[in-house]
Amino acid sequence: MNLVYFFKGKTMKNMIAALIFVAVIGAGCGALKTNEPVIKEWSKTIDDKVVYYMSIDGVMVHEKDQAKSPLPPVVTPGTHPLGDKPGTPPSDAVVLFDGTEKMFKDNWEHVSSRKTKWFYKDGAMVPVKRAGDLRTKQEFGSCQLHVEFATSAKVTSAGQGRGNSGVFLMGTYEVQILDSYKNDTYADGQIGALYGRSKPLANPALKPGQWQSYDIIFDRPIFDKDGKVAKKAQFTVMLNGVVVQKHVVLSGGTGWKGPNCATHYKAHPDKLPLQIQNHGNEVIFRNIWIRELAD
Ligand code: MG
Repeated sequence: MNLVYFFKGKTMKNMIAALIFVAVIGAGCGALKTNEPVIKEWSKTIDDKVVYYMSIDGVMVHEKDQAKSPLPPVVTPGTHPLGDKPGTPPSDAVVLFDGTEKMFKDNWEHVSSRKTKWFYKDGAMVPVKRAGDLRTKQEFGSCQLHVEFATSAKVTSAGQGRGNSGVFLMGTYEVQILDSYKNDTYADGQIGALYGRSKPLANPALKPGQWQSYDIIFDRPIFDKDGKVAKKAQFTVMLNGVVVQKHVVLSGGTGWKGPNCATHYKAHPDKLPLQIQNHGNEVIFRNIWIRELAD
């Protein structure tokens, strides 16, 4: 806007009010930082040749000085699970469960104080009806998460009652686990769904009893000082190596709030435990690791 034109004919009082308005809007725009990098381009003539330069966020393209552009840390990759053979974690992962009873006891706790408890058997964490959910003692925010699980080989129910569990990022946002092998239910409640919010792109579910895996990239939501969501959570999810959620911005909470309604965002701390749902069905877990990621 042409400010001279804008102020033409305004009284002093109006001009002061307008200046305050411009200052507030300016401050607001400053606060709404985007993730767009700052790119600058220029050129120099060297020996009659034009040489082009570019910097991204103040770092030159192809910068060799490692003080200005440090190399990423070296990570030894793990392996993907194959059938009954579990995968292995990358070298920098926080291993939450590796099939040993020690890790089950060291890293996990029950959400409720009921007497019935999950137990350890043959390399897996096994739920018990009415024992409630299980959660990590450690807290996490944005992360890459790997989880291996198997629903019961014995099929006794259908729909949401068949092999129901879930992985709750930050104890709040559910990536649904369900035995969805030839088991129809509503799309946003089958395996691979962000429960009630986003149906999966595909259904690569394996047969009941077979080991399956989730690989999840999660950006936590960020809340402002008033408790309103300033940046919504984002998910990319692979189920058995197949993308089922691709850069999905989570529109709200994933809690059940009636047969056709999900919960809303509610402000919470920057880090919270990872939680596994106990829906009363036998869904067992092995080999769980996490890599914390910057927001
Ligand atoms: Mg569930």
